Amino acid sequence: MGLFGISGIRGVANRDLSPEMALQIGKAVGRTFGGRIALATDPRDSADMFRSALSAGIMSVGSDIVDLGVLPTPALQYYVKTHDDVTGGVSITASHNAPEYNGFKLIHADGMEATREDDKAIENFCARDIETVDPWETGGYSRADGIEDYVNAVISHVDSEAIAKAGLTVVVDCANGATCPTTPLLLRKLKVRAITINGDPQGESPGRPIEPTEESLFNLIGMTTIVGADLGAAHDGDGDRTVFISEKGGFIQGDKSLALMAKVMLEERKGKVITPISSSSIVEDIVTANGGILKYTAVGSHTVVHKMVENKAIFGGEENGGMVFPEMQYCRDGAMTLAKMLECIAKNGPISKQIESFDTYHTVKLRVVCPDARKAELLDHFMQGVEDETSVSTIDGLKIMFDDGWVLLRPSTTEDYFRIYSESKDGRIAEERAEKYMVEAEAFLSGRIST
Ligand code: MG
Repeated sequence: MGLFGISGIRGVANRDLSPEMALQIGKAVGRTFGGRIALATDPRDSADMFRSALSAGIMSVGSDIVDLGVLPTPALQYYVKTHDDVTGGVSITASHNAPEYNGFKLIHADGMEATREDDKAIENFCARDIETVDPWETGGYSRADGIEDYVNAVISHVDSEAIAKAGLTVVVDCANGATCPTTPLLLRKLKVRAITINGDPQGESPGRPIEPTEESLFNLIGMTTIVGADLGAAHDGDGDRTVFISEKGGFIQGDKSLALMAKVMLEERKGKVITPISSSSIVEDIVTANGGILKYTAVGSHTVVHKMVENKAIFGGEENGGMVFPEMQYCRDGAMTLAKMLECIAKNGPISKQIESFDTYHTVKLRVVCPDARKAELLDHFMQGVEDETSVSTIDGLKIMFDDGWVLLRPSTTEDYFRIYSESKDGRIAEERAEKYMVEAEAFLSGRIST
């Protein structure tokens, strides 16, 4: 396994990820991007340490730093995209991981997240001895504000008049993360009555686990219900994702909010919608019913974004609350997702009403421990078991479509697991099918059955 996972470099600070490594990564990033590089962090305790080490590395090879302070990753991406003198960016964040983690997400000059190949190139670069520049050529350090322009840009991409007129109340949970300086300001400017929880940026003990799940959001769910809000919204740590609570206090599965947003976008303009192969069939159902074309990709946000560019897609996203609005920018954008959902409620009414006609699919996600060396073998075993008449996709792992659901058999690219996803409108079928493949995977890996 390399230094870079599916979404940049991550690890526990001072255990897996040291300041010495950050210094070396800084040198590699500085040599690769050159010129002026923008940095932002989330409020983790190790943020300043990594910012200092990374900056020293970047400046030691002659590149300049523009430091944006605590800022969501999409706001950094917007800054990089809109400043021609900036050659790239680094978001110092571990996104949804626990507070002891940290990491680096690399951003290209066009504001897009670096691909796995780009990460690989930096990783290979890091293994070398990287030469520093002469004493009079070291880089400079300056600060800038990335908050105001980003928030205003989000507002310019929604019908702010309709939102203001609707007199909406929203409870927002910032996870004490990078969205603390941006989302409350956005809501204030949109003239929404906003109640913020976990709204002060702090690293050591955020008020909830940083990954926004139904279990971790019980305070938000309670508050949304108590104040009779029109919407509850929660970000992950670095603000590229948003998940929603309905006005009735119900947690909305990410697939359903993604499907709803796809519907809204298709009502504005017909075209292609991109989502990973692991997304629920509800997304395809809604996209097709609304005159759109759904295209699947491998799992991973940068894959979704690059496929969107390639297909000139009108919208794309993942089931975890990460949505991409190309008019704003080609990256997952939590503030944009929230603003667009507010516009949707202002124009079309309560969110629970808008999704009540959506079919409910049951998804079961299992995983079996599988070393890297055996992943291809296991996948091959499953491939050979496919019957001729079954419909399959090999975009990422193996997806087998049945009349009453599907199963996705997929080796993890970052961990020693083989993942088994199963979906059906009938929960019992989804469960039994997942179980069947799980048993088969375990039997194959233990040598009890062979191909
Ligand atoms: Mg994130």
